[in-house]
Amino acid sequence: MSDAQPPALLSHRPLDNSRALLHRAVDLGLDFTSGELRDGLVLRHATIGQLIDRFAEPVPVAGTGNEQLLESLAEIASWSISQADPRYLAFPDTGDSIAALAADIVASFLNQNLIAFDRSAPAASVIEAQLITWLRELVGYPVTPLADYEGLASLGGMWTSGGNMSNHVAIAAALTHTYPEVRRSGLRAVPEQPVILLAGGVEHFSYLAAAQALGLGTDGLLWADATPDFTSDPDSVARLLASPPPGKRIFMVVGVAGNCRTTGIDDLQALAELSELHNVWFHVDACHGGSLLFSEKLKMRLAGIENADSIALDPHKGLFVSYPSSYVLFRDPAALGRFARYPDRAHDPDCLDLGLITPFYGSRGFESLKLWALMKHQGVDGIGRLVEDRQATFQKMVDLLERTGCFRMLGTSDFYRCAFVFLPTPVAEALEQTALPAAHHAAVRDLISHYTAAFADRLYRAGTVVFDLFALQDLADRLGLGTGAKYQAMGMCVGHPHIPDEIEHGIERDITEAARDLAGRMLEDLRALLTSANPASSTAGPDVTGPAGW
Ligand SMILES: *Cc1c(COP(=O)(O)O)cnc(C)c1O
Repeated sequence: MSDAQPPALLSHRPLDNSRALLHRAVDLGLDFTSGELRDGLVLRHATIGQLIDRFAEPVPVAGTGNEQLLESLAEIASWSISQADPRYLAFPDTGDSIAALAADIVASFLNQNLIAFDRSAPAASVIEAQLITWLRELVGYPVTPLADYEGLASLGGMWTSGGNMSNHVAIAAALTHTYPEVRRSGLRAVPEQPVILLAGGVEHFSYLAAAQALGLGTDGLLWADATPDFTSDPDSVARLLASPPPGKRIFMVVGVAGNCRTTGIDDLQALAELSELHNVWFHVDACHGGSLLFSEKLKMRLAGIENADSIALDPHKGLFVSYPSSYVLFRDPAALGRFARYPDRAHDPDCLDLGLITPFYGSRGFESLKLWALMKHQGVDGIGRLVEDRQATFQKMVDLLERTGCFRMLGTSDFYRCAFVFLPTPVAEALEQTALPAAHHAAVRDLISHYTAAFADRLYRAGTVVFDLFALQDLADRLGLGTGAKYQAMGMCVGHPHIPDEIEHGIERDITEAARDLAGRMLEDLRALLTSANPASSTAGPDVTGPAGW
């Protein structure tokens, strides 16, 4: 057979031939990780148009051979961004656990279908149930040891494809818990408007998406205040719980354990107590903060999480596991059991068909093997050390940002992410020395946003250092220009437990170089603006361009 028509299926190929091809695929992956395939950059930048030009082609009618396939894969890799590169500082999703990668490869071969035990996923169903039990133990939930397995209704958790979906499932469960009639009659059976209470300014977009998708509507979200340190304000939550707007009933309070913009962590215990007092479901979104549960030293930052009715965890975020890996857990396992397709079977200890209690999903793969493998490989202690080392590295990187004199922080946290704008010291000093009339505030905010975006973009296009770029309010009024308006802000999120010194120095050098002429121009623009009687301010809102903007 010619190379142009290679056998498609493993079972039709000589084993050695398959082995060679797969080994080369793994080598390609490693060359991507090492940077060889991306010219030593975090990414080789190209626009959408450029990449469409490169990859657009007609439906392939005749197949290509092995060699051409590998070439195409290498080409795709060479235009991919590496979140595992230590100079990638936009998001913590390094996905570079070696155990998880190995498990991912094996899981692809196994191709188990977690919809059912018999005929689909025998060992895999047990492994996933075990993992959920481990996660329950880590968050401090009551646990039925796997050896005493009592049926699906006692499992109390499920895998999902991401925090977005974990939050959807938690909301659906809270709704079904509060209004059992919804299962049969839908939302029209509910006499009042059910609403979710969450703090504005620190919220993740998934709540709005879920409200729209689940039939609650945008009006199904009730906004509490956020504090200046970007956490949900318990006093505001207390006030709204005590007197919700007429016609509305709060059925869920959301606590955020690490918001997506500054990773500020809510006072979960306070929110748990308030929710309990008002008999309202308490959901903790620990998509970022969940990794802290692995550290004896750091997990007290999440004190109170064990009192949540539901918890979203996102191991593909900040826990070194590749996408997709997310879990939603329920303190009372019956909450998930309520979705059982056949409720009687959910109490049958001889049934482990996960598809019976996993809403939104039918057939799905053995993604849980990745986190299971990481936990086996490193143990909770090993993972805890990685998480602790990452905290120290984050602090070191914050020091680096401050040392450059290029930025002003809008929000910091003692977790792993901070948000800041480009405001070099000479520009900041010029601002401080001026008694700025209020009429100038909007124009100065626009100037700061403009240069922040320009700076972040310059580094990003160079492919040397990647910060996040997203919209953020200055809730603590650190810039003195008001708290209501949004800036284009940069985010730095440290996903790596270690960043070698020479890489750190390289980052510092690249920042300083990129800032040099921008700082001069910004100062000139500021001076022009300060002397003008009627400073122009563009009304266009900031673009959402980085992961936290999601
Ligand atoms: C990232 C994030 C999510 C959504 O998670 P995905 O895995 O992107 O679907 C939800 N909540 C918070 C707080 C997040 O940071």
